[in-house]
Amino acid sequence: HDVDVTAMIDEIVSMEKFRAVKPVQFNIDIAEGVKQVPADPLHFKNALINLVDNAVKYSKESVTISITAVKESGFACITVKDNGIGIPSTEVKNVFDKFYRVPTGDLHNVKGSGLGLSYVRSVIEAHGGTITVNSEINVQTAFIISIPLK
Ligand code: ATP
Ligand code: MG
Repeated sequence: HDVDVTAMIDEIVSMEKFRAVKPVQFNIDIAEGVKQVPADPLHFKNALINLVDNAVKYSKESVTISITAVKESGFACITVKDNGIGIPSTEVKNVFDKFYRVPTGDLHNVKGSGLGLSYVRSVIEAHGGTITVNSEINVQTAFIISIPLK
């Protein structure tokens, strides 16, 4: 299957639930050469939805979410970046574990089961790809997905 990345991201960012809680601003930039990506349409979309859902949940009164896709030596690199609460550097290694949630006071009123990122990682790895995270407390969090192009 080839996924139309631009169309899929358009669908995700127009989902009502992301605007229901707080003002959300999306910046999208999809480079030429990564407009089509070989991926399972259902799971790949669910993976992106999980990342956007986290970006919205783990931010304060409002959030700006940047979604970019670039081609890098045979891989499509898709980044979902927010300007939310961030992840402590001591916790980043745990966030992909099943049921893991960062145990800080900030998060106690945010609901979740700790399954989203473990699902995302399984989906990406099933495509032969990888997922990494870069974060700075109270500044930004970026999840970077790398998927092989054919
Ligand atoms: P679920 O997705 O199953 O509803 P969840 O959001 O708690 O629950 P994950 O999506 O697996 O679970 O995320 C694990 C933890 O990583 C979160 O509980 C949160 O502490 C942290 N986290 C994930 N994404 C972000 C983000 N964008 N900014 C800050 N913290 C994040
Ligand atoms: Mg989540």
